Amino acid sequence: MTLHIPFENSYARLPDRFYSRLAPVPVKAPTLLAFNDALAADLGIAPGAVEDMAQVFAGNMLPDGAEPLAQVYAGHQFGGFSPQLGDGRAHLLGEVMKNDGQRLDIQLKGSGLTPYSRMGDGRAWLGPVLREYVVSEAMHALGIPTTRALAAVATGESVYRETGALPGAVLTRVASSHLRVGTFQYFAARRDIPGLRALFEYTVKRHAPNAETPADLLQTVAERQAGLVAQWMSIGFIHGVMNTDNTTISGETIDYGPCAFMDSYHPDTVYSSIDAHGRYAFSSQPNVIVWNMAQLATALVALMPDQDAAVEDFTNIIHAMPDRIHSHWLRAYGRKIGIADATPEDESLIVDLLRLMAENRADFTNTFNALSNGAPRDQFLDPTAFDTWEPRWRSRIEAEDNPQDTMRTANPIYIPRNHRIEQMIQSAVAGDFRPFDRLMRVLSRPCDAQPDAQDLMRPPEPSEVVQQTFCG
Ligand code: AMP
Ligand code: MG
Ligand code: MG
Repeated sequence: MTLHIPFENSYARLPDRFYSRLAPVPVKAPTLLAFNDALAADLGIAPGAVEDMAQVFAGNMLPDGAEPLAQVYAGHQFGGFSPQLGDGRAHLLGEVMKNDGQRLDIQLKGSGLTPYSRMGDGRAWLGPVLREYVVSEAMHALGIPTTRALAAVATGESVYRETGALPGAVLTRVASSHLRVGTFQYFAARRDIPGLRALFEYTVKRHAPNAETPADLLQTVAERQAGLVAQWMSIGFIHGVMNTDNTTISGETIDYGPCAFMDSYHPDTVYSSIDAHGRYAFSSQPNVIVWNMAQLATALVALMPDQDAAVEDFTNIIHAMPDRIHSHWLRAYGRKIGIADATPEDESLIVDLLRLMAENRADFTNTFNALSNGAPRDQFLDPTAFDTWEPRWRSRIEAEDNPQDTMRTANPIYIPRNHRIEQMIQSAVAGDFRPFDRLMRVLSRPCDAQPDAQDLMRPPEPSEVVQQTFCG
């Protein structure tokens, strides 16, 4: 085989009860749809013959050094606790070391049944695979911590969903790790303290080398997640399924299921077909991440000899989170309106703009983008709404050195809009991958004006609006 992946595995050295060892389930006729050459180069992966890559990234052929396994974890799903979940359709092949010394997981997703598949089929269809590919790489280009996409393969098999038979696909995902809040919850819920301790020690080595205690680890993860969610908020991103099994320890965004970017701004926006009560609405994300970190705290308490004292310490860390998220949020939104280092006095300026945007159905991305170059008032149903805000803003940014530059780097021009993703998927199902390639190309430079990509800035026409997004 020509493809070489320099595996250096560590998760497979953990005790057996952390995972099930098993190979991906082979598929009928793999074809390589996409391969991320730049990421591969970072990982020291030498691309091989296209045929070999299709076989490997479909799970049909195991490269030397791979030790495939499905990880076990637990999690709160929409608030209800499941003591055992796990990779129901994913296989960790192993880890590689990036050029900068960082350890990264290489995981196939959609690669067949595992002991954790429950009622699922172990598979994914092309649509969600390409959505995750495009959106995760777009997030990376936006500078937001995220899992990456290394490859996508069509399986040549059908996958059956509500709508009928759909083309199957496998995504190769790269992540700083797949350790989740739910991984800690799994061992804590079983009162497996030696397992929890082994997990803690492994996690510290991999993600928090300066942490000495569970409190230190909690603090580190809480801070990362606070920053992450503030970044999501600053680009109008709705994760859609912020269950504790989809909340990483690394602080990376993971699990692009029914996620979406907002077009017109409203804080209550929900797209996910499985989020009937709006638990994970756009503006709820900061509260949810605090709740999820409280679940991590609860799991970690079991490691502490003096649990009462630990509860107090951990509670303090959790209670500090809303302020931390808020200060990240303030800074990020300040930059969006040209203020390099916003202070609490600037907050009303931001809040008032957002309120006017919500009342006037302003497009989130285009409104901020137009502040630095264009005609923001056109974004408002009633343009005079902007006129009431503009003079306050102009007088504030007079005090800034370079507000235009600040805004240009804080406000992407191109985001993966839902209707473009849907159109891309429909084309791909019909065998045309040009929209996929084009989205990948344009979204790799989200803050650079690209004259041939004007249409990708446009919000959806009424007929193009995507009402709901699905898991896949
Ligand atoms: P998610 O909400 O996407 O993170 O998925 C929740 C759980 O369901 C995870 O344990 C997944 O591995 C599992 N799962 C999702 N889709 C499938 C599927 N098609 N087959 C088997 N397991 C699945
Ligand atoms: Mg998940
Ligand atoms: Mg998912």
